[in-house]
Amino acid sequence: MSDPDCIFCKIVAGELPATIVDEDERTIAFMDISPATRGHALVIPRVHSRDIFEASEEDLQATALAAVRLARRAKERLDADGVNLLNSAGRAAWQTVFHLHIHMIPRYREDPLRLPWVPSPGDPEEIAAAAQELAGG
Ligand code: 5GP
Ligand code: ZN
Repeated sequence: MSDPDCIFCKIVAGELPATIVDEDERTIAFMDISPATRGHALVIPRVHSRDIFEASEEDLQATALAAVRLARRAKERLDADGVNLLNSAGRAAWQTVFHLHIHMIPRYREDPLRLPWVPSPGDPEEIAAAAQELAGG
C-alpha cells in the first residue's frame, strides 16, 4: 500500500507538505516543486507502485482519468494553449521518483519548452524490424 521511504507516499499520508489541487478515492494531484511551466502538477495513485508496470489496472485507469481532468482545468482556468501529459518509467526514461506519477504540464504558445529529440526520418528497415518485435500479443 505504501513505502516508508517514498516521498510521494509521505505526501499521500500528510507527513510531507504538498499543495494538493485535486483528489478522489484512488488519486491525488499536487503542484510540482520544480515546475516546468505555470501550473505543472503531478497526479499519483494513493497506493504505492513504482511505475506503470507495477500499478494495478484500476490505478492506471484512475490516474489517467484524473490527469485528463486536471488538464482540462489547466486549459479552462490557466488559459493553457495545450497540455503535455508525461510519464517516465525507469531511470533510463528520466524517472527520478519511484512512485507512479503523471506530469500534467500546461503549455503556452510562448513557453520555453522544446522537444527533447530532433525528429528526422528513420531507416524504414529498422522501423519495420522494431515493429515486428512489438506487434501482436
Ligand atoms: P520524475 O523525474 O520522476 O518524472 O518526476 C519527479 C517530479 O517530482 C519532478 O518534477 C520533481 O520536481 C518532483 N518532486 C520531487 N520531489 C518533490 C517533492 O517533495 N514535492 C513535490 N511537490 N514535487 C517533488
Ligand atoms: Zn510511494
